[in-house]
Amino acid sequence: MSVANEPSFRDSVDLMFNRAVSLLDLSPGLEEKIRVCNATYTVRFGVRLRGKIQTFTGYRSVHSEHMEPVKGGIRYAPSVNQNEVEALAALMTYKCALVEAPFGGSKGGLCIDPTEFEEHELELITRRFAYELAKRDLIHPSQNVPAPDMGTGEREMAWIADQYARMNTTDINARACVTGKPLNAGGIAGRVEATGRGVQYALQEFFRDARDIEKAGLSGSLDGKRVIVQGLGNVGYHAAKFLSEEDGCKVIGVIERDGAVVSADGLDIEALRHWIVNHGGVKGFPDATYVEDGSKVLEEDCDILVPAAMEGVINLTNAERIKAPLIIEAANGPVTAGADDVLRKKGTVIIPDMYANAGGVTVSYFEWVKNLSHIRFGRMQRRQEEARHQLVVDQLEALSDSMGKSWSLSPDFKQKYLKGAGELELVRSGLDDTMRIAYQSMRDIWHDREDVTDLRTAAYLVSIQKVAASYKAKGL
Ligand code: NAD
Repeated sequence: MSVANEPSFRDSVDLMFNRAVSLLDLSPGLEEKIRVCNATYTVRFGVRLRGKIQTFTGYRSVHSEHMEPVKGGIRYAPSVNQNEVEALAALMTYKCALVEAPFGGSKGGLCIDPTEFEEHELELITRRFAYELAKRDLIHPSQNVPAPDMGTGEREMAWIADQYARMNTTDINARACVTGKPLNAGGIAGRVEATGRGVQYALQEFFRDARDIEKAGLSGSLDGKRVIVQGLGNVGYHAAKFLSEEDGCKVIGVIERDGAVVSADGLDIEALRHWIVNHGGVKGFPDATYVEDGSKVLEEDCDILVPAAMEGVINLTNAERIKAPLIIEAANGPVTAGADDVLRKKGTVIIPDMYANAGGVTVSYFEWVKNLSHIRFGRMQRRQEEARHQLVVDQLEALSDSMGKSWSLSPDFKQKYLKGAGELELVRSGLDDTMRIAYQSMRDIWHDREDVTDLRTAAYLVSIQKVAASYKAKGL
């Protein structure tokens, strides 16, 4: 989405980068080296469909190779273009540095409306796109590792992994060429939910510090907070589900392509998701009010606004009217640079995209490590952990017996304590830890430096410093 008189998404990312870098003491040469996109490959390929050859245009952009492989999703949307892919690749560099995932930044996209094609046609198109990228090492376990993004998911990642394996029959690490695969094709438990789960962990960490809550003009905990979500796709659905089911938030509005539904009592996210799958949109969802101009709901009164659809939705045309005191950018680039200025002046707190949606790449990192180690997390230690816990429980119960059973362990405690951690528990633990530590690194700068007044600048400072250190270590 681009708005007249506003910089493009690519320029917005650069403007935000420049604002942060002006607060650092980097040499101008290094500053430029970090900012620019190293390379963007454009491919046009033909696929025979419905009796004729159709030509598709795709991109894979590599922003920074200070660490390899480079990492970033592949997006399927009609609006995909080089500028957008480059902006997203740059964000990936900063995101990976911020959450300490050992990757450079990359991104890919295919100009296609996936809803216009049958599944077998999408498979042909995806395999051909993957072939074009893989033969140039733009898909490769040690060079460039894609993941899902808007319009793609587990299914497309499984096709890509299989295509790479067919082209590299003796590569024992072939499965590590792409992440976000289904479990039965080398995926990892918890990857599908990861980005939404990361949004939840980010908000939980935000609400752990009274100073942060106060800066947003809020009080208390996540419990009871009114939330509006834009986009009930992978990221938005999981974030809305976890926040409402586990943290006591009330999702009072959901905005989709065909409009929005609102309910002051809170929406049933699971039911709404089913409704969208069965009816193709939110219109007609029972027990809620339908609003045809969905984007107006971004301006409704709420505590937390979660744009989780696409870039540029909060821009100079609506920024002034946004009432939410706290915005968490679950999508990439939902707030333009111009809107960011307006909102900062209003005192709105924005948890920036490069941090807020880093849950996906974090769990992708775990999946890549799993693929390279050829063993699922928890396989070696789970039962040993359970046996050690059983020893403690047996000992405590023997002690209780010797004291005439004057006390006992509750069955609930025993059940929880005796259960060793499987892959899903370990993935969630690793993600939670990553989101907390990354947030704390931004928070320290936000509170300690007088010249840093927002979390986005703090996030850029943390990540640019890390990328700069990598380049310096390489002798640049
Ligand atoms: P998705 O395709 O699963 O979901 C996008 C949702 O937004 C869909 O439900 C779609 O109908 C809706 N939507 C599209 N245009 C809209 C509009 N104009 N107004 C309202 N709703 C609209 O995509 P996703 O994977 O959830 O990605 C969403 C955002 O999150 C993107 O910006 C993506 O780059 C970012 N992101 C995704 C991941 C991931 O792991 N999937 C990771 C990091 C960042």
